[in-house]
Amino acid sequence: MERTMIKEAFAKEGKVLLKGWVHDTRDLKKVRFLVLKDISGRIQVTGVNGKTDPKIFELLDNLNRESAVEVIGKLQESSQAPGGKELLPDSITMIAEAKNPLPIDASDYSKTELPLRLDNRFLDLHSTRTQAIFKIQSTILQGYRDFMIKENAIEAMFPALIGSSSEGGTDLFKTKYFEKEAYLSQSCQLYKQMLACSMEKVFAIFTVWRAEKHNTTRHLNEARQLDYEEAFADDKKVMEVMGRCMQFIVKKVIDERPEELESLKAKLEVPKVKYITFAEVKEIMKKEKVKMPAHDLSGDAEKKLEELYPNTITFVTEWPLAGKTFYIMPDGENSKGFDAIWKGMEISSGGQRIHIPELLEERLKAHKLNPKDFKSYIDSFRFGAPPHAGWGVGLERITMLMLGLDNIREAVLFPRDRERLTP
Ligand code: ATP
Ligand code: MG
Repeated sequence: MERTMIKEAFAKEGKVLLKGWVHDTRDLKKVRFLVLKDISGRIQVTGVNGKTDPKIFELLDNLNRESAVEVIGKLQESSQAPGGKELLPDSITMIAEAKNPLPIDASDYSKTELPLRLDNRFLDLHSTRTQAIFKIQSTILQGYRDFMIKENAIEAMFPALIGSSSEGGTDLFKTKYFEKEAYLSQSCQLYKQMLACSMEKVFAIFTVWRAEKHNTTRHLNEARQLDYEEAFADDKKVMEVMGRCMQFIVKKVIDERPEELESLKAKLEVPKVKYITFAEVKEIMKKEKVKMPAHDLSGDAEKKLEELYPNTITFVTEWPLAGKTFYIMPDGENSKGFDAIWKGMEISSGGQRIHIPELLEERLKAHKLNPKDFKSYIDSFRFGAPPHAGWGVGLERITMLMLGLDNIREAVLFPRDRERLTP
């Protein structure tokens, strides 16, 4: 007999073979219930004293939660069972028993704290809520790919090991590379630029490592970014692309993951898009008495933007030049750099890049960086490199915000933070 997924079983008649895990058991003396779960759903298996094979009835009282079992039985309509059908078991076979007690509670009502859940992620992944997060993240990734492919962008893979810093800054993880030193990439910035200057529209899902010692609920030391870069484009062009891209992804999640959103109690709407200059934000924050630094947004300012423009991807444009990295195109005192804010948090930075070697050298020096360390990068713009622009959106950030999770660690399978390197 072939295995049937639980979700499909509801549409079937007669006998089925199901494989899954023990979600719960209940003993009402005359009747014993097993709630069986697999990745597609749950079904009630019902044993009746006197009717069900005595050995199976006995076993129904001795199943440890989260054990993997195989059940063969007959489907029957039931007005009381969730989903309107129950399974009357002919056989139950233990595939892999879960030890008792479990190190964490993986049920729907789990109160186990996040660190302990993360220590036992293999078991935490049995929980419907945790599964919902990663099913949705998979849909986000698929949505990103679908959207980009429709835009005729080309997906690219870039090296994770680099010989020198790609962004300037000091927050890199260093490692040995034979006789040399290497670093873990903090962004694929320089590579995606080089690629866009021939392939025109490129995208990547890229892992970044940041050695910053922050210990916040919105930073990881290893994170994933949805990267995009386009040739013959400026900041305005790529912001427009990101706005549509985010709307496309959110709509896909709403359409394809209603049960998962429900189980996370997440209320998701397709966001609006708004453009506002940094100078305008400064004015507003002054009026609203929200403090912010001269060349950056504060966390409070980001939250205020959400309050003023709810459910909106707000692009803060014309960013002061002093507040952006060396490769962002200057525009007088300001730059062609931007940040995107959604639900009170930065989800992305982007902008038009400098494609003029002399200007790049000047900006590197202004940032107290040595142009010699960036020679191959600068040289790549000497041979027909057109103006280009792009952005990077944090995958775990948008997962967290979409689902209203309190901690970004919930939105990554195996988080890497200041303390955590296992599992
Ligand atoms: P932040 O100001 O929030 O620390 P950043 O400006 O340092 O972020 P960027 O280099 O602009 O980050 O990276 C682009 C996007 O990648 C960010 O907007 C964010 O969504 C995500 N991101 C950056 N750093 C992290 C991190 N440490 N953990 C999780 N996501 C991150
Ligand atoms: Mg940023």
